[in-house]
Amino acid sequence: MIRSIKYELKLTKGQTKKLNQSFGNCRFVYNWALDRKIKAYQEEEKKLSCFDLMKELTQVKKKEEFEWLNLSGSQQLQQSISNLDNAFTNFFKAKKGFPKFKKKQNRQSFRIPQNVKVDYENFKFFIPKVGWVKFYKDKEIKGAIKFATVSKTPTNRYFVSITFETQEQKKFGKGSVGIDLGIKYLAITSDGEVFENQKYLKSNLKKLRVEQRSLQRKFKKGLKEQSNNYYKQGLRVAKLHEKITNQRKDLLHKVTTYLATTYETVCIEDLNVSGMVKNHNLALAISDCGWGVFRQFLEYKVKDLRVIGRFEPSSQICNICGDRNRNLTLKDREWVCSNGHKLDRDINAALNIKDFGLRASTLNANVSH
Ligand SMILES: [Zn+2]
Repeated sequence: MIRSIKYELKLTKGQTKKLNQSFGNCRFVYNWALDRKIKAYQEEEKKLSCFDLMKELTQVKKKEEFEWLNLSGSQQLQQSISNLDNAFTNFFKAKKGFPKFKKKQNRQSFRIPQNVKVDYENFKFFIPKVGWVKFYKDKEIKGAIKFATVSKTPTNRYFVSITFETQEQKKFGKGSVGIDLGIKYLAITSDGEVFENQKYLKSNLKKLRVEQRSLQRKFKKGLKEQSNNYYKQGLRVAKLHEKITNQRKDLLHKVTTYLATTYETVCIEDLNVSGMVKNHNLALAISDCGWGVFRQFLEYKVKDLRVIGRFEPSSQICNICGDRNRNLTLKDREWVCSNGHKLDRDINAALNIKDFGLRASTLNANVSH
């Protein structure tokens, strides 16, 4: 199984400077190679291969005016050329648009394709031309390292993500479960287990709206350069945004890992998010929890994920007798069917989702993925 672990780097000022130079150089080589490819094609109808460009790059690096390119590892620069090559392959396969020039404001990253060195005694990681850099203590990797990716976020944080192969097999659970997306909760299972939405997430979202409004006020129309305060505020918004995204992902990772290791078959509803967001009550719940991300995590973690159609009336049907209550509203937390069965709205819905999911053939379940 291929896995990766991400560590945050603790850099000295000197290391930060050197690393930024490397990001800049990789970006430069990527843009240079893109420009060479376009011009060679326009001027001589020549198609430059990855190999041609790498050979050319060796020559460019020898020129005095491009001496600074030698301040970053040559493998990293070559990697930028193969990244561009991949971008073109994707373009020709019509998977993605024509490759674009990279900008400084984007997320910056480069790959260390081989000879990745980690020192767990001192929690240090080796970056060519930068040296050994410290990282915050975290889990140790157990397995064969394939490659590493060094990156920088728009909020000026630096990370290394190390990809490795482990012998350990994925652990799956047993039995089956249905999951209903709650309004009051993040989710509830057909076994009656409730996953709460974390409260701090809500308060941080409120804070974010306030900071975003303040950013809008600081924006002055018609100015070429915005004020320092505007940029400071922009960074504050980006940091808060990053924090919220991480909190959300953490929570969703915990819940989905729990589900995947507890159950073999997990049934969920195919929620038409845009349709449901129109409903104001559900809007907060859905955008707050990132239902799409939840499903995405389940898709790669769960052994047998079944997604049922969004038109099955999962909350209106009594799971015990099949009686349908068409008058059920979002406010009804509990209801009694016409045959006298007392039902908890959310658990009943989760039970129905499980039944629909198990009834659907595997083929159908796959189609709706
Ligand atoms: Zn009933």
